[in-house]
This record gives sequence, structure tokens and C-alpha cells, in this order.
Amino acid sequence: MNGIDPRTDIVGLTRQELAARFAECGLEASLIKPVWNWVYVRGATDFSGLSSLSKARRAVLEMNFIISRPEIIRDLKSLDNTHKWLLQFLDGQRIETVLIPEQDRGALCVSSQVGCTLSCSFCHTGTMPLVRNLTAGEIVSQGLVARDRLSEWNQPRQACLVTNLVLMGMGEPLFNYENVAKALAILIDGEGFAISRRRIMLSTAGVVPMIYRVGRELGVNLAISLHAVRDDLRDELVPLNKKYPIQELLQACSEYPAASNARRITFEYVMLDGINDSDADARELTRLLNGIHAKVNLIPWNPWPGAGYQSSPIERIQSFSRIINAAGFSAAIRATRGEDIMAACGQLKSDSERPRARTPR
Ligand code: SF4
Repeated sequence: MNGIDPRTDIVGLTRQELAARFAECGLEASLIKPVWNWVYVRGATDFSGLSSLSKARRAVLEMNFIISRPEIIRDLKSLDNTHKWLLQFLDGQRIETVLIPEQDRGALCVSSQVGCTLSCSFCHTGTMPLVRNLTAGEIVSQGLVARDRLSEWNQPRQACLVTNLVLMGMGEPLFNYENVAKALAILIDGEGFAISRRRIMLSTAGVVPMIYRVGRELGVNLAISLHAVRDDLRDELVPLNKKYPIQELLQACSEYPAASNARRITFEYVMLDGINDSDADARELTRLLNGIHAKVNLIPWNPWPGAGYQSSPIERIQSFSRIINAAGFSAAIRATRGEDIMAACGQLKSDSERPRARTPR
């Protein structure tokens, strides 16, 4: 049930759950495949055009099921073609979803929570209190909205921009593991939305015990929001570090089963002027990553109102990058995307707010 409409929302049900509901409604298991295709390949939002089914079966579907979408409150497109959607769910809670397009592909940056508990000091989302976890259906629906808005249903992959998924939007996905895992199972399904797990990246601030579980159960690409090479600084930038310090985090990374030379763990490192960006920091980073299948993403810090930071100058970022390269790791300097619509990394935020007492250093 979706809370207002008593019918069952198909979006967010696994195939097994759908089969169980079909059985309760007297629908044959053989109908799962065409309905799944209807929802996740054709992108339908009702059953009226499902002409391969008899009128009687369509009536049973209509009586018992819906195919929902969140309401789109704002639809913004940046000068560099980054899209940002502010979505509202049935209880009025809102999240943001961002599509970062490239020439022949694109990454959909999906939120997993309304707000975030973690209060990373450089992150705009961290100024929101955690309101609640998203359901599996609400996570899946972000992919559906993107395909709706880009008219990408039933198109060959070469014609699509929603090709990759990054769990890097609002929230810490590993604090909402069950719903994230269920949503990914639905989105990976090869007869439906069909995003390969190799094209999915889950980004975490470092919930160490869950990293082992992700490796065992999901096998997606992993990204770590590292941002500092010393515990005292990381305690401030990513307060979760007080619970899971750097060494424990890197140990979990070195044991991550899905990592290999071809599928390296991405270490995200936001470049903060005068705080974490010295050559000595870069050398320490290479020492820490030694022995891990790692690559580094250097992210110029993206400003937001009231933040007490400055981004490192580009020359500093380049020098940092050269030191990491020289140690044999790739260290891409991430181009800032969608800054004009506040869609860049660390800028996502919906409405609610908690006070943040941070003085510039
Ligand atoms: S960086 Fe991620 S984990 Fe940290 S506050 Fe922002 S959304 Fe939460």
C-alpha cells in the first residue's frame, strides 16, 4: 500500500514480492514478465495500453495495483546540461536527484535518505537533519523519473544518458542498506531497467561493517568519501571517522572482494584550501592507499551559503594530483558540474535545516 491509495505500488516490489501479490489477486505468475516489461522497459504509469493482456486481467491489475511516480516540484537544467530534479513523495518529503550527462552516457546521482545523520562539515546535505530513509520504491522511482524526463524508455542503450548509477546523492546509503539493496536488485534486473552492477557505484562515508556486506552481497563499485589523511582532521570533516577511523576503513577496502585492477575503489577527496591539500597530505595519501586497488578523485570544493571553506586553487590541486600520479595511482581532477543550479557534489539539499556552527579556519 502507498498510504493514500489502498492499491499496491508495483514500483519497489521485487519480482518475488510481485509474484506473491499476484497470487493473492488471482493473477497467474506468467503475467509477471509482461507487467515487469511494461513498468521497467516501457516506462508505463498505468495499465490501459497493456493490450497483450485480456480486458479482464487489466481490470484486476487496475483494481489492485498502481505504478507510481513522485511529484516533480522543480526540474532544473544547468548550462552544462546537468539536470536536477526536486522530487516530493506522498508524505511531503523531498529529495534531489541529479543526472550528469557525458557525450554518450550519463550518471544518475541518486539519493538514499531525506537528509543525512552524518554532518560532514563541507557538505550542504549535512546541514539537514535526517528525516527518514527512502523506501526501495522511492529509490527506484528516481531512475524512472530520469527516464521519463529524458524520453529514454524502450530505447537502445547507445541512445540513452541514464547508463550509470551513483549512490552519491543525499544521505548515507549504508545507513539504509536493506532498501538500497532491494532497489538495486530491481534496477539491475536484466529484463527490466537493466543497469549492470558494473555501472553502479555506491559511495559511503565509511560505515565499515557494512562495506564487508556490500562486497559480499551487492558486488557494485565502491567509492569512499575519504577527504583527509589524518584521523584528527577526518574526525572534523567526516565525523563518522570517530567511530570508524582511517585504518579500519582502509582495511575493509583492502578486503573488498569486487575490487580489482580493472575495478578500482574510488577515493573521493574534496580539495579544501589550506586544510587538506598540502604536498605532504598527497604523499601520505599514497602511503595509505599502498596495496589497495585504488584510484583518487580530486573534487574542487563546491560552495554553498554559510559554509566556512574555500576550494583549493587549481595549481594546488594539480600539484596534489601529480604526486599521486607519480606513485602509480590515477588522480582525476573532477570537473565541477551543475554548479549554477546547486547540483554539484556536496551541494544537494531540499528544505529542512539544522543550525551549523562552523567558523572558517
Ligand atoms: S557527504 Fe554524504 S554522508 Fe556526509 S553529510 Fe553529505 S550526504 Fe551525508
